[in-house]
Amino acid sequence: MALIVKKFGGTSVGSVERIQHVAKTISKSVDEGNQVVVVVSAMGKSTDQLVDLANQISKKPNKREMDMLLTTGEQITISLLAMALQEAGYPAVSLTGWQAGIETEAIHGNARISNFKEEKIQHFLAEGKVVIVAGFQGMTIDQEITTLGRGGSDTTAVALAAGLKADRCDIYTDVTGVFTADPRYVKRARKLLSISYDEMLELANLGAGVLHPRAVEFAKNHQVVLTVKSSMVEEEGTFVEEEVTMEKNLVVRGLAFESNVTKFTVVGLPNQLNTLADVFTILAENNINVDIIIQNANDKETINISFSIDQSQLDETIAILEEQKASLQYEELRHEDNLAKVSIVGSGMISNPGVAAQMFKVLANEDIHVKMVSTSEIKISTVVDKEDMVKAVEVLHTAFNLDAIPAAQTV
Ligand code: ADP
Ligand code: ASP
Ligand code: MG
Repeated sequence: MALIVKKFGGTSVGSVERIQHVAKTISKSVDEGNQVVVVVSAMGKSTDQLVDLANQISKKPNKREMDMLLTTGEQITISLLAMALQEAGYPAVSLTGWQAGIETEAIHGNARISNFKEEKIQHFLAEGKVVIVAGFQGMTIDQEITTLGRGGSDTTAVALAAGLKADRCDIYTDVTGVFTADPRYVKRARKLLSISYDEMLELANLGAGVLHPRAVEFAKNHQVVLTVKSSMVEEEGTFVEEEVTMEKNLVVRGLAFESNVTKFTVVGLPNQLNTLADVFTILAENNINVDIIIQNANDKETINISFSIDQSQLDETIAILEEQKASLQYEELRHEDNLAKVSIVGSGMISNPGVAAQMFKVLANEDIHVKMVSTSEIKISTVVDKEDMVKAVEVLHTAFNLDAIPAAQTV
């Protein structure tokens, strides 16, 4: 008898029919002799709708109340799914995140799981029940309700799988697996049969919304056997594992992209030892999330520092730096928005020099200007104009042989 954690995302539970379909998928697994713990998201786009409601009342809703509001979405799904299973004759019980023993740090809106007390779930499993847990939510030791960040139900699922020492964690979603790029934007994207934790973590961090980054981190740290598959089509999904077992010859395994990037430049800062530290300390203290950083010297006396941020933090960044003009002693602030970040990811890059050169050549051939670059061992990110984003992804997809993954492995 295997213990399996199955997670179903918003679209997969978006209507009564879909919930009934999910109940069938679960009951089939129970009939095969498995113990099943299920994690679900809020139905369809209901989390977005709740966010919208809050924004109609307040421009900057209180974070505690926001968590109180958003966690209601998942509670609807757990109860309906439990009813659907009971209707079909399968004993099931629904649990909120806190009832299920998920404890988090005391941060609203983006808390990390700090502890998981498995007793309650184990108790119900021993009674032969399917346990259905609300994703994306937890509670602090002071009994404050928290959420794990948008997309965080994946993390609930992987955390439960790790804590319960489950044999597998299956993430069911609205695509048939992890693709070489988001299949909604890139027509020639191919489904991968296998991807390493490290590659998946980079892709998730760089904008591939198919898995929550913390879920991948958790899976890697606890060696959880993780698959991503479709909740609608019965087809083999993608294995996320330590070492790729298939498609080993790929240098680049996937591409990720995100828009709403702004390049910010502080011009004419004094060329002094502490300047970099001073600028980024101020930004960090004000929770400005800085991504790529470039420093260049104008002359002996002055330097410019450029960095990329999310467009939503632009006004705040300007306000903070203007306030510090006298202490930082810069000449002026400049910014360029409507930019996007396009990244290529693959463990094969470590042993293949020239990947960056090829990436830049391919983009230059298409007249796509690269404004910023950052690299790690297994990824290269470029900042380009937003209007070039999808084109850049498509030409890179072709250039790095991803179109050529056999069609039998696609949707
Ligand atoms: P769920 O509600 O099931 O959690 P999400 O919307 O969070 O679903 O994630 C699935 C979506 O992720 C897909 O519909 C797809 O558009 C997007 N996506 C982005 N990058 C990728 C990728 N590389 N492979 C597959 N899907 C991706
Ligand atoms: N319902 C939450 C969201 O929309 C959590 C999730 O779906 O993973 O972000
Ligand atoms: Mg998701």
